[in-house]
Amino acid sequence: MAELRVGALYPDLMNIYADRGNLAVLERRCAWRGIGMRVTSIGIGQALDPEAHDLIYLGGGQDRDQRLCAADLVATKRAALHAAAARGAIVLGVCGGLQLLGHEYQLGAERLPGLGLVDLRTVREPGPRLIGNVAIEVDLGDGPRVLAGFENHGGRTYLGPGERPLGRVLRGHGNNGRDGGEGVRRGPVIGTYLHGPLLPKNAWFADWLIATALGMGPLGPLPGDELEAAAHAAARAAAGI
Ligand code: GLN
Repeated sequence: MAELRVGALYPDLMNIYADRGNLAVLERRCAWRGIGMRVTSIGIGQALDPEAHDLIYLGGGQDRDQRLCAADLVATKRAALHAAAARGAIVLGVCGGLQLLGHEYQLGAERLPGLGLVDLRTVREPGPRLIGNVAIEVDLGDGPRVLAGFENHGGRTYLGPGERPLGRVLRGHGNNGRDGGEGVRRGPVIGTYLHGPLLPKNAWFADWLIATALGMGPLGPLPGDELEAAAHAAARAAAGI
């Protein structure tokens, strides 16, 4: 039986808006297809085996939790995460997780170090937090699709010149409320500000992650997925997007 091996980074600390629910969706959608899933939690001070995971997940967190994780990520996991991404393991970061994929998160005079897996920087600028429902258009190679979610971040993220966002903002703020980009994607390294959590609201994206992480062809829909598609269509029609 195929098995999806997931490394869950700091599942207790980085779990704002129940981001851990993303793992529950991966597990269920694997199980419904007869694919196993093994989750290994990797906490503060614990080493990460770069060969051991098909998908490594880092959820969002408050600034104070991010501070703990940033120091630990750089001290104990940075090289292993680069090695895992280099062999094609998916690294998925949500919100605080997205911010930590980049070079740094600047909070006033303080700079939280990041992993440097992608070329981006995040700054806590003066001004309101960027909060609200968000929809983005993404193209993962099979045509444009929509991801829906909820964002709440004080940090504004700016991508370096060679870096591509995950998607284009249709509604909401995105990375910084200015440039129309949302998240980041460089090969298997993917970051987004979308909570929801992300995968319960976008089951198709969970399937894409499973298939890509396991090197499988596209997974067909499951019974009931038409309800999600109809809900998305109705919400988009109501929002005029
Ligand atoms: N603490 C970060 C910020 O406020 C990320 C918040 C989050 O993960 N929701 O920008």
